[in-house]
Amino acid sequence: MLRLILLGAPGSGKGTQADRIKESYQAIKISSGDLLREEIRKKSDLGLQAKQFMDKGELLPDALMIGILEKITQDFEKRGQSYILDGFPRTLPQAEALMEMMKKQGVSPSSVILIDVPEDELLRRLSSRWTCKNCSATWSYPEGKADNVVCKQCAGELYQRDDDKKETILNRMEVYRKNTEPLIRFFEEKGLLKRVQGLGDPDSITVRIYEILENI
Ligand SMILES: [Zn+2]
Repeated sequence: MLRLILLGAPGSGKGTQADRIKESYQAIKISSGDLLREEIRKKSDLGLQAKQFMDKGELLPDALMIGILEKITQDFEKRGQSYILDGFPRTLPQAEALMEMMKKQGVSPSSVILIDVPEDELLRRLSSRWTCKNCSATWSYPEGKADNVVCKQCAGELYQRDDDKKETILNRMEVYRKNTEPLIRFFEEKGLLKRVQGLGDPDSITVRIYEILENI
């Protein structure tokens, strides 16, 4: 049974890789957003508590998030169902709580895989998106957009949404780095962390991940 924690910055291609591993290992991908929506839909106690925070636009307390995760993984453990944690934990306290939870279940992560992409490459990937002012179509220009380029669909003017601007992305990356660095050290010290070079085509990254998983 695979219990995989997959880490990677926005733009690292983590989602794509998670989907491939999921297929090959008949694993269930757990991303925190999906988890919450499911609990809210079922109107479980934990789901209703979570909804109160979300309705107020507040972040969920770690304890609540772990509570939901515990409930779900308990069921997986009973059924021997492999799972991949995608996008959780995000912070050191979450990682500590997660390890506590697994300890209680008498298990530990099969591996913690970090898809490692240099920041300048992440910035290049994330800031490549341009939106049409006229029809809202989006186009990707990873090598930068020339001044005279317009929408391929309607010849409308292209602009960058605030979310896609370099300054915003740099900010987001800064927050990510601050939260993630202690998390990475934590798993490294436990001897669980495996780094996978995230440059190159997605297929070769998948191969590197499978090599790690086969050696567990
Ligand atoms: Zn357009």
